[in-house]
Amino acid sequence: MNISDPKIVADGAPTEGNGAVTPMMRQYLEIKAANPDCLLFYRMGDFYELFFEDAEVASRALNIVLTRRGKHQGAEIPMCGVPVVRSDEYLHKLIAAGFRVAVCEQTEDPAEAKKRGAKSVVQRDVTRLITAGTLTEDTLLDARRNNYLVAIVRARASSPDDASLFALAALDISTAEFRVMECDRLALAAEVARIEPGEIIVSDALYGDADLAAWLRELPVTPLTRDVFDGATAERRLASYFAVATTEAFGAFSRLELTAAAACVTYVERTQLGSRPPLSPPTREAAGASLMIDAATRANLELMRTLAGERRGSLADTIDRTVTAAGARLLSQRLAAPLTDPAEIARRLDAVARFATDAAARADVRSQLAAAPDLARALARIVLGRGGPRDLAAIRDGLDAAAALSARLGALGELPEELGAAASALAAPDGAIAAALRAALADELPYLKRDGGFVTAGYDTALDDTRGLRDESRRVVAALQARYADETGVRALKVRHNNVLGYFVEVTAQHGEKLFAPPLNGTFIHRQTLAGQVRFTTTELAALEAKIASAADRTLAMELEIFERLAARVTQDAEPIKRAAQALAMLDVAAALATLAVERDYVRPEVDRSLDFVIEGGRHPVVEQALRDVPFVSNDCDLSPPAGESAGRIYVVTGPNMAGKSTFLRQNALITVLAQMGSFVPAKRARLGVVDRLFSRVGAADDLARGRSTFMVEMVETAAILNQAGERALVILDEIGRGTATFDGLSIAWAAIEHLHAENRCRALFATHFHELTALAAKLKRLHNATMRVKEWHGDVVFLHEVVAGAADRSYGIQVAKLAGLPAAVIERAKLVLTQLEAVDRASPARTLIDDLPLFAATRTAPAAKDRDELAAALAALNPDEMSPREALEALYALKFKAGTKS
Ligand code: ADP
Ligand code: MG
Repeated sequence: MNISDPKIVADGAPTEGNGAVTPMMRQYLEIKAANPDCLLFYRMGDFYELFFEDAEVASRALNIVLTRRGKHQGAEIPMCGVPVVRSDEYLHKLIAAGFRVAVCEQTEDPAEAKKRGAKSVVQRDVTRLITAGTLTEDTLLDARRNNYLVAIVRARASSPDDASLFALAALDISTAEFRVMECDRLALAAEVARIEPGEIIVSDALYGDADLAAWLRELPVTPLTRDVFDGATAERRLASYFAVATTEAFGAFSRLELTAAAACVTYVERTQLGSRPPLSPPTREAAGASLMIDAATRANLELMRTLAGERRGSLADTIDRTVTAAGARLLSQRLAAPLTDPAEIARRLDAVARFATDAAARADVRSQLAAAPDLARALARIVLGRGGPRDLAAIRDGLDAAAALSARLGALGELPEELGAAASALAAPDGAIAAALRAALADELPYLKRDGGFVTAGYDTALDDTRGLRDESRRVVAALQARYADETGVRALKVRHNNVLGYFVEVTAQHGEKLFAPPLNGTFIHRQTLAGQVRFTTTELAALEAKIASAADRTLAMELEIFERLAARVTQDAEPIKRAAQALAMLDVAAALATLAVERDYVRPEVDRSLDFVIEGGRHPVVEQALRDVPFVSNDCDLSPPAGESAGRIYVVTGPNMAGKSTFLRQNALITVLAQMGSFVPAKRARLGVVDRLFSRVGAADDLARGRSTFMVEMVETAAILNQAGERALVILDEIGRGTATFDGLSIAWAAIEHLHAENRCRALFATHFHELTALAAKLKRLHNATMRVKEWHGDVVFLHEVVAGAADRSYGIQVAKLAGLPAAVIERAKLVLTQLEAVDRASPARTLIDDLPLFAATRTAPAAKDRDELAAALAALNPDEMSPREALEALYALKFKAGTKS
C-alpha cells in the first residue's frame, strides 16, 4: 500500500498514540458489526483492506501476506489487502471457497472529508454483498452454466398440508430466470440435484431440523432469519419487487410457493442493497412436469459430469454442439429436466427436425449465432447499474444478430411452433435501441466506463469540444516545452507529468544551476531534486495543468452521462430484449441438436402416453463417440407390456464381465433422457411411452467418502427404488447384491426382482452375474431373459456385445481374468477349482467344496514368481517418509525374513 496516498492519509492511523479507538476504526467496527457473517472488504484508496479475523481467514484462503497495522485495545491489528483493480480474481476465489463478502466503498470524495478537518473519516458504506447465488459479473460466472439461488421452505407442522410438503424457488439473477414449485421430500432432493444451486437459503429453523441436517450440510446453504421466510408478508414483498398490485397476474401460487419466491427476492434486495435486478415473474412448475431423476441416478448415468467429476465424458459434453454460452446453459437445463408431456416434447422435436432436414438453414443460423454475444447476461448487468461499455456493445451486437436471425427464419417459409415463436421474439425489440448504440459507441471500447473514450467522435458536439480542449492542451504543453528549451538554451529540457507533482519541467542536474540563477529563477520554481535531475514548475504550467485536468474531468463526466442515457434506454426495453435473448438460446439448442443428429445419425423418437418401450438398433451415445478402432454394436430393447398384460417388461441381462451389460442398460436410460428432453436419439427407431421417474443403481458403488459401507449404500438405494417406482418409472439395476456374500446377494436380488414385477410393475433392466436368476422367467410372466453373446475361440473369449434372448450358459470369468493378465498359475488353479465346483451340487454348502478340494499349495506351479510378487507388494506398501528410523529398521528385518525363509 502506498502510505503517501492522500485518500488514506485523510483517514489517519487506526489507533492514536494513546491507544484509544480512532474514528476510522470505529467506523470499521460499526460496519463489520452490521455484516457479521461476511468478510468485509473495506475500501482504502486503491485497496480493499481486511482486518482482524477477516484478515487471518482471507490471507489463508487467498494465500496473501498477513501484516499488522496499528493497535486495537492494546493488541496489534492483523490486516491484509487486495488491490481494487484485481479484486475480481480474489473475490472469485473466496466465493468458490464458500465465503460471503461485503464490499464497503468510499461514498464521498476524500477531499470532502478533509474539508471537515484533518482527523475526519471518509464516509463509507457497504454497497454490495457478494454471495455465490447472487453473482452477475462475467469474471465471477461460468458463461456456459446457470448459477441459481434456491430458497426452500417447508409447510408448518400445524398447517393442513403435512410437514413433508416443501416449496422451492430457483432464481438466476444473471439471466433473470425464476421458477417455483411444490414438492415432497424426495422430489425436493431430486430438484436440488437437478438445479445444482450456487447457493441455497433456508430459515434457521429448517437448517437446524434433524431430518434435513445431514442433507443440508452437504450443500452450499446460507441459513437466514425467520422474517425472510415469513408467509404473511410474502405476497406483499413479491408484489412490491415486481411493482404490481397483486401477484395474481403471474398465475396461481400456493402460500408456500409465494413464501419461497418472496424469500428469493428479499435476499436479492439485501445482497444488491436495494437495487432490483429485472427478473422474470416466477413461473410455477407443476409437480411431475419433468422427468424426476434423483441425485444418485444423475451421478450414475453421468449426465452432467462423470463419476470422476469431470465434464469431459459426460452426456452433456457428448451432445453439446451449441455455439453460444446461452445455448449451452439452455441445453444443460433441458438435459437436467427432461419433459413428461408428449405434446411439449413433440414441439421441441419439430424444431430440431426442421433444422435436421435443412442443412443450409442450419449452417446459416449457426454461423450467425456464433458471432452473437451473451445478450442475457450483458442486459442483467446494465439494468443492475453494473454494466460497462462492452455490455452496451454486446446489446447492440446481440440485437443486430436477433434482427438478422429473425429475417433468416422468416425466409424459411412455414415454421414449426417453437421456431415461429422464436422468430417473433427476435423481431420484437425496438430497432431504435441498436441504432442508438451503434451511433454512440466507439470502435475500441474500454472495460470500465470510468476509463472513458467509449463514445465515438462526432456523436455529441459538446463532448467533441471539451475533448478538443483536452487534446489541444496537450499540444500546448508540447509548444511550451519547445519555448522553455529555447528560452533557457537547455535542449534536453522536458515537460513531464506524474501523479504526485502533476506537470513539471525537468532538466539534468548539470543544467539545474542555470535555472536556479537569475534571470531564469524568476520563472522556474524549484520542486524536487533527484539523483540525476532537477524539477521545476512555473505559474504558466500550473494554470495549464488546471485547465487540462478540468477538461479531462468534464470529458469523462459527459461520457458517463451519455452512458447512463443509453443504459436507461436499454433498461426501458429490458423485457423484449430478454425474450430475444431467450429466443437466441432456443435457436442455438435446436440447431445444435439437429447438428448432433445429422453428425451422429440419430433419429427422431416417438414419445406417447403408452407404457411401451421399443428401441431398435440403440447405441450408447457416449461410448459410441469414445470408441475409435471398433464399431459400436447396436442393440434392440423391448420393455413394452407383452400381449394381454397391462404393465411393462423386466429384462434380466446375464453375461460375462466386460460383455457390455452395463453399457446396454445405460444406453436405454440415456436414450429415454434424450428423447424426453426433445433430442433425437442414437437408434434406428425409438418409441417410448413417457417415463415419469428414472432410477439407476450400480451394485457395490463406492461411497466410502460418506463413511457408509458400500453394501449399505447399495441396499439404501435399492430400498428407495422399491419404495418409490410406479408403473411409469424406468428402473436400471446393475449387479445389485454384489456387495455381500453370494447367497445373501442372490436372495436379495431374487426378492427385488419379484417385488419389481408384482408391486412396482415398472419397466426395468436388471443386469446380474447370478445366473440362477434366469430361472425366475419360468415363474414371472413379464420377465425376459437376455444375454450378451460371446464366442469362445482357442480357449479365449471374444465379446460380440450383442444382446440376444436367453440366459448366459456360463460366466467366462476365468477367461476374462486371463485377458486381464492374471498370472498363469492363478488361472490354472482357478480352472481346477471350477471343475470341482461344477462337479458338486451348487446348492450344497460351500464348506463341502472346501473340504473336497486339495490344498492350493499342492498344485502351486510357480512359487518363485509368487514370492517376488509378495516381496514387491510388501516393499510398495512401505512409506519411508512416514517412518521413524526404528520402524524403518524393523521393516527391513521383516523383508529380509520374508526373503530368507522363502527363497
Ligand atoms: P459389463 O457390464 O458386461 O461388464 P460393460 O458394459 O462395462 O460390460 O462393457 C465393457 C466394455 O465393452 C465397454 O467399456 C466398451 O468399451 C465395450 N462395449 C460394451 N458394449 C459395446 C457395444 N455394444 N459395442 C462395442 N463395444 C462395447
Ligand atoms: Mg457392468
